[in-house]
Order: sequence, then C-alpha cells, then structure tokens
Amino acid sequence: MVRGVDEEADVDSDVVTTNLIGTGKRLGVLTSGGDAQGMNAAVRAVVRTALSHGAEVFAIYEGYQGMIDGGDGIRRLDWSDVGSILHLGGTVIGTFRSMDFRERAGRLRAARNLVERGIDRLVVIGGDGSLSGLNAFSAEWPELVSELAASGEITDDQAAAHPDLRFAGLVGSIDNDLVGTDMTIGADSALRRIVDAIDALASTAASHQRSFVVEVMGRHCGYLALMAAVAGGCDYVLVPENPPADGWEERMCAELARGREAGRRDSIVIVAEGATDRSGRPISADYVKQVIEERLHEDTRVTILGHVQRGGTPSAFDRWCSTLLGHEAALEVLGDHESDGPVIGFKGNRVARLPLMEAVRRTREVPAFIEAGDYDAAMAARGASFVEMFGIFGELAEPGRVHADATSKRVALIHAGGLAPGMNTIAKVAVRLGIARGHTMLGVQGGFTGLRDGHVVQLGWSDVEGWTGEAGARLGLRRDVPEVSDLYRISRALEDQQVDALIVAGGWNAYRAAQLLYSERDRYPAFRIPIVCVPASIDNNLPGSELAVGADTALQALVDVIDRVKMSAEAVNRCFVVETMGRYCGYLALMSGLAGGAERVYLHEDGITLARLNADTDWLARSFATGRKLALVVRNENANPLYTTDVVTRIFEQESCHRYDVRQTVVGHQQQGGAPSPFDRLLATRLASRALNRIDDEFASGGTEGYYLGIVESTLQARPMAHMMAEMDPTFRRPKKQWWLGLRPIVEAVSVRPEEREA
Ligand code: ADP
Repeated sequence: MVRGVDEEADVDSDVVTTNLIGTGKRLGVLTSGGDAQGMNAAVRAVVRTALSHGAEVFAIYEGYQGMIDGGDGIRRLDWSDVGSILHLGGTVIGTFRSMDFRERAGRLRAARNLVERGIDRLVVIGGDGSLSGLNAFSAEWPELVSELAASGEITDDQAAAHPDLRFAGLVGSIDNDLVGTDMTIGADSALRRIVDAIDALASTAASHQRSFVVEVMGRHCGYLALMAAVAGGCDYVLVPENPPADGWEERMCAELARGREAGRRDSIVIVAEGATDRSGRPISADYVKQVIEERLHEDTRVTILGHVQRGGTPSAFDRWCSTLLGHEAALEVLGDHESDGPVIGFKGNRVARLPLMEAVRRTREVPAFIEAGDYDAAMAARGASFVEMFGIFGELAEPGRVHADATSKRVALIHAGGLAPGMNTIAKVAVRLGIARGHTMLGVQGGFTGLRDGHVVQLGWSDVEGWTGEAGARLGLRRDVPEVSDLYRISRALEDQQVDALIVAGGWNAYRAAQLLYSERDRYPAFRIPIVCVPASIDNNLPGSELAVGADTALQALVDVIDRVKMSAEAVNRCFVVETMGRYCGYLALMSGLAGGAERVYLHEDGITLARLNADTDWLARSFATGRKLALVVRNENANPLYTTDVVTRIFEQESCHRYDVRQTVVGHQQQGGAPSPFDRLLATRLASRALNRIDDEFASGGTEGYYLGIVESTLQARPMAHMMAEMDPTFRRPKKQWWLGLRPIVEAVSVRPEEREA
C-alpha cells in the first residue's frame, strides 16, 4: 500500500499506442462519491487523451446524478474546458452521492440519456461505491437498452449501435483504501496536509511539553493514520485494521512515559477516525486525551483535522500520477481490444490494470475481517509494505532499548553527495532502529572528508529526536569522492572507531565513494565490512532504485514554483521557460512538466537541436496567434550546453514579434531545501530499516558484502555492489536504464492540442 513499494505487484506498464483509436467514439467522464485532490488532473488527462485520439468527450456533472438528469448534466468538452485545472483541489465537474442511481429506474434514465447522445464509453473516478455502481450499470446495460428500445424511448438503430457499455474506473479516495493498488487519487495530498499539521503541532507541543491527540480520516483504512504517524515522527497510532488488545490504555501510557524519560519533549498520538478496540467500541480522540490526562497528568490537546485533509491543491504526485491514470483510462475505453472494465490503478510505480469487482470485493472484505477479529487478514489486505511499516513504527516509537551494550556491533552512517531532503529521516530511523536492534550507532560528520579526519560521534536515541521532518543534513555532508591518497586515513578512522558496518546515504558521489572503498577491500582490511548504499538524491539518478529519497520533495518545490509563475501571467500572453536541477538526469524536468502542465520538456536524454527550437518557435507563434495565453517549457539544466535556458528564452522572445513575452525562471536551490515530503520520509524510513536488515543478515552470516538498495518496479531490493558500475552511465551520471523515459509521449498527449502537433 505504500507508493511504489508494494511487494506483490502485478504490473502492466505498457506504453500506449498513438494512432487515432477514438475516431467516431463518444466517451463520458464523471467523478462520484467523496472528492479527492487530483481528480481534476485525471479528468483533464481523460478528456485530452480522448480528444487526441479523435473521440468526442462529455463531462457528466455531479456524479451519476448528471447522467440521470441529462440536459445540462451532460456537456461536451473541448480541449480548453479542462485548461488551468491541474492545480485545483476538489473536482471541477462536481461530485454527488446519487440515491437515484442506486435504483433501477434511475439507471434506466441514465442509459437513455447516454444512448441518446451516442455515449457508450465511461470513465468513472470515485471510491469503491462508485465503482461497484459502475459495474452493476454495465452488467445491466444490454437489458436497459433493450427495454428502452421496446418502450420506444430509443430507436432500434440506437439500441443496435450501443450494445455494450465499455468502461474503466479510477480510484479517487483520500483514504487509500482500495485493496490491490498502492496509491489512490488524493491520498498523497491528504497525507501532506496531515503531516504539515503534525509538523506544526510538534513545535508547539515540544515548547510546552504537551501531548497532542490528532484524529485523521480513515473509517476502515489506517493508511493515513499509520503513514502520518511514521512521517510525522509520532509516538502512538491507532488504526482500524489492528485494534489494540484490552489494557491498551495502560500500555500506551507506559510507552509514552518511556518516551518522555528517553528525552522526548512532546507526545503525539494519531487516531484514525475508524479506530476501535477489540470489542468494536470506537476509540475517540477525546477518550485518548482523557486517558493521557488521567494517567500521565499531561496537558493534552485534541486536534481533529476533518475536511482540510480533502482540501487544497493536489500534491505533485497526485497531479502526475492522476495524469498517467486518466491517460491510460481513456485509452482503455477507446481501444478495440478485449476489456473487462478494469480499475486503472498504480502499483509498483507503474500504471496497472486490476479486475474491478475483485478489487471492490477485496476492499469490502477488510471491515468484515476486522469485525470477525481476523486482524492479520485485515493488515495483510493492505499490502506487505503497510505491514512492514506498522512493524517499523512500533520499533521507532517504542524506546524499549536506548543504550547498546559493550558487545554490540558498531554501525556508522555517513552522508555524501549533494544534499537531499530526507537525509535526516534516514539518520533518525537508522539510529533508533539500530539501537533497538542492539547496535551502537555512529554518525560521521562531514562526509568522507569528515571520516578521513576522524569526525565520528556516537548517536543516542534522544540525539535524533525531531530529525524526522527536518530539512538539511544534521550530520553534514560533502560532495567529495575520496582520493586514493585518503584511503589509508579513512581505513585508520574505521579501525579506530571499530566500525563493523557502514551505511552510505547519498547521491552519485556517495555511491562512487562506497564503490571505491569496496573495490579497495583487498588492500585495506578495514573496508571488508558490510557497506550499504541508500539512495538519497533530488536528481533521482542512482542505479538500482527507481526513486531516491529527496526527489519527491524537489518535485513538489518545482510544482509550487510553476503554480506561482503561471499565476503571475494572468493578464498577459506569456511563455515561461522553467529550468530544473537534475544534472544530466531529466527526471525532475519530465515529472514537473507532467505535474505542472508543460507543453514542452527539454531533457539531456533527448538533447535540444536548432531544428527543435525552430519548430517550437513556430509552434509558439502559431499557438499564441490562435488564442493561447500561457505556455510552459521545462528545461533540464544540462539539456544542452549551448542552448541554455537564457539562450532558449532569448530565441523565443526574439521570434515572438512582441505578440507574447517570454520569461525564464531558474528554480535553483529551492529544490534542495525545505522539509522532506511525507513520501520521502516514508521512503527514507523503509530504506533505513532495510539497510539495517541487510547489515544484520551479513553479521549473522559473517559476510562482508556491499549492497545498494532501492525500489525496482514493485520490490525493494538490495543489489550486490559488484553490479553497481555496470548499471551506471559514468559520463552522464545516471542509470543506463531510466523507467520514466517511457512517460515522455504523455506530455504531448495531455498538453498539446492535436492540431498544434508536428506531423
Ligand atoms: P464512494 O464512491 O466514495 O465509495 P459511495 O459509496 O457513497 O462513495 O458511492 C458513490 C455513489 O455511487 C452513490 O451515491 C451511488 O450513486 C453510486 N453507487 C454506489 N454503490 C452503488 C450500487 N451498488 N449500485 C448503484 N450505484 C451505486
């Protein structure tokens, strides 16, 4: 259930064909049930992909009710109707819980209204309720159509032309409750909102040494509660899937008290709104407050976050992911291939098709498991990574062991390469879990140069308090890769500190440094220890991992800037050229282009040619001449050494003949700063835990292998260091295989009008 990291993925990542599969076809799109941030991105992608393929698209307003009411409830959409909605929360086509659609009579009217307009393809974005309604409707469709023909409400020809309803479902749900998909539309944004609130509460709580009880949404699903508790560095969590056994009040208070003794200045308890005890009695935030006040005599406040979790602008992830999902859903319903009406979900960092009713059935099983007391089944339904995260949270929050003993192994952590938000999370998790697992944890200050100079300190449980969401890297870091002449001193420092294992968390140069130590093990016995690399780089350019800690935060920073610059152009015709970091890796540029609605993305992987600039200059002139107000071009910083952002901007400006102006924005270090996003904190947590697991396995077997960790498709893997160089492109400092390059055609499919495309 954690984005990109579920274990049992059944991934279907085929990239799409671009022929005109939609000619003469009519498709309806609607949003239903609870609203969720990112629904607009999905609607936009459905509409534009369908138009790109020659189909006609209709928005059905106010969920299924619009289909029943007909009239203005079903309106044809053009390309520009879904312009400037990517950044909006909620759903611009409205949502509704239609009681009429639950009745056959309502569905009969809905079918008539669709057939009258020639619509027999639907994309529905909603929760499990909306999706099962969709399934029932499609199963009934032939019967409804025959009945309408028999009663003369539609003609026989109309009935014959629309024998079946072809459909696909997208899951819009901030709860992230659909079993079988890693992330539902809106969950990442809701988590961001919650974690922002927890960060704010933590600072006031720590000042007053207060306790806070925070209630978050999730009636049957503990995703938001658990992930917020991990990402917010909280102390106790109550989720519906795993109700606490009798006596939990006592145990919770003992745990919170131990945390205080170990040095914690605040206590934060997260309660999912659907949390209960094992007899099914709801556990309210107020009850938890009362328990803490009575037993621990602590000043305790309750915060119920409520609907702010649904509101506000969607996160970068909810924009790019929903764009991919909407794109795929449109292709699914427009294609002529066999289709059983799937849910288009997100699994293992890829778009995946799931059998709709099986996903709904498995989702609905979870409350039944909970009611029957089968908590293991309820937890397992949420996915392997949810279960793993629950275990990690228990270890992190519980200060059962805060001092290592004399026989413990000494595990050092070092950061190197460029700064990545989330490095502090890695450090905190490694230190706390390492101590809990019996190790002495050491922090190297100032990267490999610091190690060479012997700057190594022991880190205790309370030393890392508050590090989970902190920007920067408390241990310090350097970009330098050690020189061969440094190796002797580094080996001495490792020996002096009796380091038994090393975790290297960082970017490209951190990996190269680890590789250097690994390759010099024959000469330096001190290097014959388990060394584990953890990917942390905003560039997301590391081998063996599709996602590095820090990249999501950087992407969010870019999208925030794009939103602002777009808004600055309200009253003028303007083209923006936004430059992203990434060195030679185009991940940030492409994904921010997808999330920000760019019409063009320039990557080093593709290069920029004069012919390209010429074509794009022509396109800009034509497009602004026919009504465009705003254009966005995203350029990776190293896309081309000569056609810099400045040069590109000047060429566009020069050729604009004053019909539009062109501005450049170099986003710069904003991408490296700021608190790590919840996703980066969660990824950091899981990777740090896995790094320690790997090290423990090596200790147990007496091994001294080196590894680099990461997510590849749907699994979190540790690859032997011996493979690392073969995966890297040393010239351009990026992996030889980059999974996201396959997403490039989607930029054009959702951002460039078909008539403006090059032949
Ligand atoms: P969600 O989609 O967020 O789970 P609901 O369960 O309230 O939200 O469902 C949203 C809407 O989907 C309902 O108001 C109704 O119009 C439709 N719907 C849900 N279940 C069914 C069903 N079994 N048959 C027909 N329509 C349904």
